[in-house]
Order: sequence, then C-alpha cells, then structure tokens
Amino acid sequence: MNRTPPTRALGEFELIGRFFDRGPARRAALGIGDDAALLPASADHERVVTTDMLVAGRHFFDDVEPASLGHKALAVNLSDLAAMGASPEAFTLAVALPGVDETWLAAFARGLFALADAHGCELVGGDTTRGPLCISITAIGRVPTGCALRRDGAQPGDDVWVSGALGAAAAAVLLGDRVASGGAPTPGALAERLDRPQPRLALGIELRHLASAAIDVSDGLLADLGHVAERSRLAMRIEAGAVPIDGALADWPDAEALRLALTGGDDYELAFTAPVENRHAIGALGSRLSLPLSRIGTVLPGDGVGVVDSHGLPLAPDRRGFDHFAADEH
Ligand code: ADP
Ligand code: MG
Repeated sequence: MNRTPPTRALGEFELIGRFFDRGPARRAALGIGDDAALLPASADHERVVTTDMLVAGRHFFDDVEPASLGHKALAVNLSDLAAMGASPEAFTLAVALPGVDETWLAAFARGLFALADAHGCELVGGDTTRGPLCISITAIGRVPTGCALRRDGAQPGDDVWVSGALGAAAAAVLLGDRVASGGAPTPGALAERLDRPQPRLALGIELRHLASAAIDVSDGLLADLGHVAERSRLAMRIEAGAVPIDGALADWPDAEALRLALTGGDDYELAFTAPVENRHAIGALGSRLSLPLSRIGTVLPGDGVGVVDSHGLPLAPDRRGFDHFAADEH
C-alpha cells in the first residue's frame, strides 16, 4: 500500500489557502482574506458578512458564565463588522449543546440579546443541535459602497493606530490556566476584558473617512498588523513605548505586560492606519467617543512588522517579554 509520508501539520492560514481560497472573488466585491466579505447590495451600499465560531475548551473556559458567553459569541462577530467600518443589521446563530439546561440557556440568551439590542442587530435564523458546546454566529451589516475599511489600503508614511488598551484578555487566559490547575481566581478586571469585549462599532463607522486600512485585534496586535502589512504589501514599525498597556496589568513586570499587549489575543480593539494629515481629527474622535486612540507606529515600504524601543533600536520577542535582538544573539 502506498502511503504519503507524514507532513508537518498545516497552519490555519495555509490550510484555508490550500483548500478553501479559490482566488479573487467572482461575484463578491471582496472575498476571503479580510475581516468580512463585501457583497454588492444596492447602487449605494454593500452587504458585509462575517462568521466566527466559539468552541468550549478552545475559545472559552468550561465554567464561563453563560451570559458572558452569549455576549462574547456575538461581540467577536460585531468586532469584525467594526473592523470593516460596517453598521450591523442582523445575525444568525448556530448552537451545539450537550444538553438542555434552561437556566443556562436563559442566561446565555440574556447576554446575547443585551448586546444585540445595544447595536440594533436582529437574530433572523440559525440552527440548533445536540453536541459538544459550540456557538457559531454569522453577522451581517452594511457599508456605503467603496467606504469599507479593508486590510489592503495602508499607504507608505501612514500612521499606525490602535484603540483602547491591550494585554488584559491574554493575561486573563494565562491566569485562567493557573486557576484550572488550582491557583487563585482571576481578578475581575482581567476576566471582564476576556469575557466581555466591546466591539468598536462607533469607531469603525467614524473611521470610514479617516483610516486607510483596519483590522480587529483578535490574534494579537503584531499578528493582526502583520495581516494588514501583508495585504497592503508594506512594512510597519511599531514603537514599544507607545503601545497602550491595560491598566489592569500595572502590577505585572513591564516586559511581560508589553509581551501580552503585543502578542496576546482576544482584545477586540481596532488597529488601523491613517494618513498623517488625519492625526488631529483622529485625536478629536477619540475624545468624542471617550475611547483612547494611540498612535503606535508608521507604515513603511518593505514587508513585516518590527518593534523598536525609544531609541529606534529593534526589539524581538522572547519567553518573558520583548528584548533587543542583540541580547538574543549572546
Ligand atoms: P478574523 O480573525 O478576522 O475572523 P480569520 O483569521 O478567522 O479572520 O480568517 C481569515 C480569513 O479567512 C477571513 O477572511 C475568513 O473569512 C477566511 N476564512 C476562515 N476560515 C475559512 C473557511 N473555512 N472557508 C473560507 N474562508 C475562511
Ligand atoms: Mg477580524
């Protein structure tokens, strides 16, 4: 029998590229590869469609409060709409449940609909089945034609910005693992950032005319900016000292807090690029929305995302934080 030799497991993006991405979209205005797809809807609007799935044990701890889970399942989808500059309209909900626990379901629905109602987003269908706990939502929104914030629009010389503060959700994941092995409970402020992310929809809509590209921070700031850099065929330089670190990490060692802010996921803030001439307007927008907007770097010719210290010297990740490349070599 002829068996193919074992190969290295494919990464998520390699896998999508090899089996599911069939090249440029034919009917859609934008297909696979951005935070959401764009479908022509009317003469002046595009429909925006995105799907995100949460799986027990992989995306949340088994003991997560059901109301928080309901919130988060929708929030991560609305965050992708926000990253496109879209306004939400409707969503569908597919759930696999290990059993029927009415108290659990009531709390889940409460968390889900509180967020849906806050953003005028209506549940219009779905699917329900028995199975290991898994929640998949498809969110649908709209954006004026040509105004969506795509990942491929960054220009050399643009500023790089990020909303809010980073690192707390990843810290909560770290501590959650420790709780699972008998450690102290995760502090409320950290757990809140992991369990109840706030999709930055108002920001996304306001950025339609100010930003050149955007993405939501789901996998970690550097990884997600890497997607923008790759799609825009450009490089970015990020200043470590300008990256906003969540106040809930004030007691953590600086290098560890910086590492979490740069590489931890689950923050669901927006990272975006914008022309230098929009600095003032973006600053004013942050004040209007009561949401800190930090200018953290610059778009450059080339490829890749680099991190530099206050002297412009390159930093590289290590196990405990971000260190100078030189320190790595010795
Ligand atoms: P995000 O974090 O913004 O939700 P992902 O990193 O999950 O985006 O996915 C990257 C891109 O690949 C997105 O455009 C997404 O729609 C697409 N994608 C992911 N899985 C599949 C799949 N199984 N089939 C087709 N497209 C996919
Ligand atoms: Mg996204």
